[in-house]
Amino acid sequence: MVRRPCWVEISTRAFEENYKLLAQACRETVNPTLDLLAIVKADAYGHGLSVCAPAAVRAGARWIGVTSIEEGVAARSATIALNPALEILTIGGIFSGQGAEVIRHRLTPVIWEPAHLDELEAAAKAAGADSGTVAVHLELDTGMSRQGAGPTELGALLDRFARRDDSRLRLDGIMTHLYAADERNGEATREQLTRLETMLEQIAARGLAPRRLHVGNSAAVLLGGGSRTALASLLAIAKRFGLQPMARPGLALYGLAPEFDPPLPGDQLPLLRDLHTSLQPVLEWKTKIASVRAIEAGEVVGYNGTFVASEPMRLALLPVGYGDGLKRALSNCGYVLIRGERAPIPGRISMDQTVVDVTDIPEAAVDDEVVLIGRQGGEALSALDHALWAGTIPWEIFTSIAGRVERRAVERTIQG
Ligand SMILES: *Cc1c(COP(=O)(O)O)cnc(C)c1O
Repeated sequence: MVRRPCWVEISTRAFEENYKLLAQACRETVNPTLDLLAIVKADAYGHGLSVCAPAAVRAGARWIGVTSIEEGVAARSATIALNPALEILTIGGIFSGQGAEVIRHRLTPVIWEPAHLDELEAAAKAAGADSGTVAVHLELDTGMSRQGAGPTELGALLDRFARRDDSRLRLDGIMTHLYAADERNGEATREQLTRLETMLEQIAARGLAPRRLHVGNSAAVLLGGGSRTALASLLAIAKRFGLQPMARPGLALYGLAPEFDPPLPGDQLPLLRDLHTSLQPVLEWKTKIASVRAIEAGEVVGYNGTFVASEPMRLALLPVGYGDGLKRALSNCGYVLIRGERAPIPGRISMDQTVVDVTDIPEAAVDDEVVLIGRQGGEALSALDHALWAGTIPWEIFTSIAGRVERRAVERTIQG
């Protein structure tokens, strides 16, 4: 069926190139042993897991990370033909009744509650798994107070591995999440890594020998491995405890660098000095003009007449609204691109429709392609622009793009 024209184009090549670029920069400028786990949670940040998970594998990723067990199952089926041994980390915990799927699809769950171990142990037993064959990664709460075991809960969890030789579970990895990797003074990060080290001592004292340690999001990766960075500490800690180091970038794979505090322009980022020309946007969000009308001075636009025309105007109607994920906060403040020019959004964005001002783009006509995020002619709008207009962050802009917006995989790259 021909659909209402509101779609995103996903450049799988841009995604692959972003992964390769980060992986190569990490190997060459940080440390050859540093591996990357590609974060494709939340439907690959709204870009489509079924498209991005295989792209990550083609680019060389041996690890990907998703939120839930159901995303893990979807990721396995999307990648099994390319690499059946791909390691799929499920970050968001295990809920009662999900253990069987973890075992069946060989997912690697992040655990931190005794109940996670109960659920998995029972499922592994029911599936007839041998002892030590189900790998899990333990998350340590080093200060974010979100998920993970803190120093007081850690002992009881470790007992479950150390005392029970008959356990079917194997402590394969340790992770923690940095909550302020984008703060350049690094104070919070250093405190977190100190706590991590103390907890790793506890783990080693029990005679447990996990293989891997993963820490660090896009911000931590882009700050590189210079002295006193998160990656430098990760490498030192991993070496001390004989662990393989890994970082977990998400946003950068989709072509955006996080905003740093204080700001750090792309051309000064330690890992990728030419960020603007190196990382490429993966997604473009487009629609088409549905109709065009003229209004007189004094007429209003949209719900509650928040915009009043002060002169005659030409308006174009777009079949996209906040029900598609276009932030309502862009009402009376955002722009779209039409014929390579910026057209403002006067009045309130509706659920399914948005009106834009094409008074200064006289050739604008029905069926013209409109760019919400992406490039047209010499102009570009990014998820960061939307985030700044809407008072939020690009992660929320990407993941707000609704399921009803069609995802189309395209081969070509999008010129950043
Ligand atoms: C989302 C997430 C990441 C990736 O974060 P970015 O800032 O998008 O790079 C890494 N680790 C964990 C645990 C996450 O939840």
